[in-house]
Amino acid sequence: MTLLIDGKYMDADSGESFQSINPATGETIGNVSAAGAREVDAAVRAARAAFEDRRWLCLPYPQRVKIMFAIADGIEATLEDLAVNEVRENGMPLHMARATISNGAEAFRYYGGWIGKLHGQTGEIAAGEAFHAYTLKEPVGVAALIVPWNGPFMLACHKLAPALAAGCTAVLKPAEDTSLNTLNLVQIVHEAGVPAGVVNLVTGLGSVVGQALAEHPDIDKISFTGSTATGRRLIEASAGNFKRLSLELGGKSPVIVLDDADLELTVPGVLGGIMNNSGQACISGSRLYAQRGIYDKLIQALADRASKLVVGNGLDKNTQMGPVISQKQFDSIMGYIQSGVEEGVEVVTGGKRHGDAGFFIQPTVLSHVPADARVVREEIFGPVLSAMPFEDLDWAIKEANNSRYGLAGAVYTRSIAKAQRVSRAVRAGTFWINSHRPTDFWMPFGGYKESGWGREGGIQGLEAYMESKSVITRLY
Ligand code: ADP
Repeated sequence: MTLLIDGKYMDADSGESFQSINPATGETIGNVSAAGAREVDAAVRAARAAFEDRRWLCLPYPQRVKIMFAIADGIEATLEDLAVNEVRENGMPLHMARATISNGAEAFRYYGGWIGKLHGQTGEIAAGEAFHAYTLKEPVGVAALIVPWNGPFMLACHKLAPALAAGCTAVLKPAEDTSLNTLNLVQIVHEAGVPAGVVNLVTGLGSVVGQALAEHPDIDKISFTGSTATGRRLIEASAGNFKRLSLELGGKSPVIVLDDADLELTVPGVLGGIMNNSGQACISGSRLYAQRGIYDKLIQALADRASKLVVGNGLDKNTQMGPVISQKQFDSIMGYIQSGVEEGVEVVTGGKRHGDAGFFIQPTVLSHVPADARVVREEIFGPVLSAMPFEDLDWAIKEANNSRYGLAGAVYTRSIAKAQRVSRAVRAGTFWINSHRPTDFWMPFGGYKESGWGREGGIQGLEAYMESKSVITRLY
């Protein structure tokens, strides 16, 4: 039973389900209920009723804070099991699963800490002293939280924590390939004391469950992380009642390496930036622009290091890179590599299947890639780095911005001035200098251009689940 509606576990009425596959072995690890519009409606009604009767919001705020902290504690108490489940469903290396689950727990502490601390304002109004004016921050209502498969547990936490902190109720919809661990999350949420009906879980196909949530008139807000194509569909489907949308979509993040870069920092930085999670991250630094003086040395060093990455089952303790999520994703990535070959790129390392079971792809570095090749223009979402040399920094900046995406970017240089110049010039929501990874809950995360709408993280991420109300009182 993978649906949780109004505090009750159930299966889809139709009895339909699909298998969850371990991407490292191709074996089935469990069955996931395929809900239909009926279950979506029941979950939305439960969340709506819970919102209207204020069963969550009426709890005194210190109690809600305690519950949020108890969720974090509950996650940490079972961290090892959750991490192993995450590896079995998603394929990521165990050390990474531990880190992402632990990060999910921290999201509840970070946003739990905000409860009771976000206030409206009071102020004068021009109409004069006879009026008292203030603003209120109120929860937006019922939120649909649609989660992708590339960091399933952590990304569910990144949405659920601010939604609960804001006082919303929620319907959580995990991705088809990674639904099972989400069930553990909602169980912990309930054990910590969140009342039944406040958080509901509906598993199933995106085209059915996700679509029904997007169209449902009783959903007030959608927080979605996924592909730009699905994001566009959501905008259309949700227009009926003008849902508030937070969209964290695709990316094709540029990485610019200048001649003066420190190779010791740059090589692991660039490689980690693309190969982490087998390249299945929206922030992956997938386009490398390296200056001519450092290009050959850098590509060689990247290729050497990439070819030595330990690829394997995430449960093996030496594994540095796991499989990609599914046969479909495997075929898509291999298709991109093939298209690169047809467009004349040089495959410096990788480019092939790794092993003969599961969905493993060798860490791949493509060099001398034409600026208009598909592997440069489109998001591959796999362990594939496309590299191009440049002479002139202005050209590199122009090419970095020559993309419909604007999620992230990075520059490697010893020059503070050049680093700052590039960080200002690249149109992206997150930018790293001499690195490609760390960020924090307080830092807004999201994209320019077709990488999305709005920001998750920080106060902005919390306010995305809130409305503002202006109240004006006549005193005399
Ligand atoms: P991918 O193509 O990599 O699977 P998606 O953007 O399609 O990425 O998936 C991200 C999430 O969006 C998943 O939970 C998926 O089920 C859901 N989804 C897919 N299609 C739709 C849709 N039409 N409406 C709403 N959600 C969808």
